[in-house]
Amino acid sequence: DRAEERDALTLLIAAPRGFCAGVDRAIEIVERALERYGPPVYVRHEIVHNRYVVDSLKAKGAVFVEELDSVPDGAPVVFSAHGVPKAIPAEAERRGLDYLDATCPLVSKVHRQAERQIEAGRHIVFIGHRGHPEVIGTMGQVPEGKMTLVETVADVEALDFPPDRPLAFLTQTTLSVDDTRAIVTALQAKYPHVVGPKAEDICYATSNRQAAVKAIAPDSDLVLVIGAPNSSNSLRLVEVAERCGTDARLIQRASDIRPEWLEGVRTIGLTAGASAPEELVREVVEQLSQWRTVEEHTLVTAEEKMVFKLPRQLVD
Ligand code: SF4
Repeated sequence: DRAEERDALTLLIAAPRGFCAGVDRAIEIVERALERYGPPVYVRHEIVHNRYVVDSLKAKGAVFVEELDSVPDGAPVVFSAHGVPKAIPAEAERRGLDYLDATCPLVSKVHRQAERQIEAGRHIVFIGHRGHPEVIGTMGQVPEGKMTLVETVADVEALDFPPDRPLAFLTQTTLSVDDTRAIVTALQAKYPHVVGPKAEDICYATSNRQAAVKAIAPDSDLVLVIGAPNSSNSLRLVEVAERCGTDARLIQRASDIRPEWLEGVRTIGLTAGASAPEELVREVVEQLSQWRTVEEHTLVTAEEKMVFKLPRQLVD
């Protein structure tokens, strides 16, 4: 009957979504460190940008701090998945702290590329978002003044390196694939000799999640992205959906959804950023099911099989 028809809600769930291999590994490092050392285990910065994850680790005895100064002598400390400037492990060593590095291996790969480019005598143009911890960490791999941050095509236009200056570019791992392509193109047009990675350094998880949103957004009246406001890859998912012409909202959990958002909405697209656990996806489905008769469809655009090894200290 008509009332039932009105009540129906199609849910298009993106796949892949949620946790990536780097986030899985980072959380496991904290959990194993808690088992090995017993609480408290200190974690410098949110291990991944998700309050739910941080709160569950806090409940198990992790203590989150922003700076090493807040870690007492002799306590174990984990560095977050986003990576840290070189000065941080150096300081930890100086203080004799037992530290574990949860930097995602794909971020570490960019760190090593940065060092290599400096050794080769090139100045680095780094494409990223100012203030993000990954950007601070990557820029902190090389001496001050050797890396210039650009965020936009306009920033590239404003660069004034002499034409013979050897240049390389690198990127943050969680950028918009489309925006980054435009920035790299502008950079190559201005400095044809600039060297860089084959693609950009945007990671597999970021690009797969963006492609998955592109597949669901055009058929959705509204896209919900589960993620934190400081999660770069989650914010990019909202932008990607909006650029498909679909309203999109970032939510941290089911309780953020306002019933009025659903007015006139027949199809909702649902995804989650790389730091958002699947529990939160199920929570959203449950919440929507309380209001409407939900029919779930998962749209798979890629399979992910990536797994990263744990640091040696935790496996023996
Ligand atoms: Fe690593 Fe990419 Fe996940 Fe960041 S989003 S932790 S770079 S796999």
